[in-house]
Amino acid sequence: MFYHVKELQFNARVSKPDPRFARLMLEQFGGANGELAAAMQYFVQAFSCHDPYPEIYDMLMDIAAEELGHLEIVGATIQMLLTGINGEMKDMADNAEINQMMGGKAAKEDFIHQTTINPQFGVISAGSPILSDSYGNPWCASYISANADPTVDLRSNIASEARAKIVYEYLFKFTDDPYVKETLSFLMTREVTHYQQFEAALETIKPNFPPGILQADPRYSNRAYNMSKGNDARGPWNKGESTQLKEPWIYIEDVQKEVISTNGLADLKPEKTSMTMDEAAEMNQKLSKERSQKVKKATKEKDMQWSMFDKPKHK
Ligand code: MN
Ligand code: MN
Repeated sequence: MFYHVKELQFNARVSKPDPRFARLMLEQFGGANGELAAAMQYFVQAFSCHDPYPEIYDMLMDIAAEELGHLEIVGATIQMLLTGINGEMKDMADNAEINQMMGGKAAKEDFIHQTTINPQFGVISAGSPILSDSYGNPWCASYISANADPTVDLRSNIASEARAKIVYEYLFKFTDDPYVKETLSFLMTREVTHYQQFEAALETIKPNFPPGILQADPRYSNRAYNMSKGNDARGPWNKGESTQLKEPWIYIEDVQKEVISTNGLADLKPEKTSMTMDEAAEMNQKLSKERSQKVKKATKEKDMQWSMFDKPKHK
């Protein structure tokens, strides 16, 4: 169950209305890398972890709940940035349109200009946040990645946190309100924190690479193909040792020649790697058994019950 605490996690404050920045802030409300997307991603991922990975379930739900709290902070900030619009929109008796808005003709014109930056703030939501990105695209469930395997999902989450962080970073450029900057700084920092939490959780699962169960085919895993001509760059992505499998890279200068001479790579044998085809197959068997047992053991097949309703334990 959820219950709502009226205090925000962070003291969101705004110096003065700013509809322009409110529109940009929408990106973190209903945008692809925003707080609703984060909350829903971790929430949806948590279900498959509930039984086999209860620790990761707990972490995902904690962070999902925190992201919902961030959504509330962003919504509250947008609402404050749009102060004045809703009251004015309700004043249908005033024939002077929005003349009185913040006083004076110049202010009115400025206000009209600012709301037409996002007409929905005027004619749809009347000065309140909407679940869209800054361009007005409605929030979309396809922003969410959930693949029911923590070696995959946690990596998706690390990438999501990186994107959420950079959007906050870019948003700084568009406001000079010191209060709003404080809020942006808090929200940005929490994404840095979550990034590390997901990374640490991933490290508790061994092995976690390659993601999922099946091993890489050792004939192909350490070949770096040069797919262009001229100014070929060499670096740790095609020189030395690979980052996870620790195999020496084999740099293939002429890919066409290799493909033709190996019957379309089908006749290739593993090279410069200690992993053999048999070992990879053996590892597939072993990991399949291990991971499927872990899930099966943790989940009952009849009379299922999600919660235990234990009396609170005082640790
Ligand atoms: Mn967040
Ligand atoms: Mn986050």
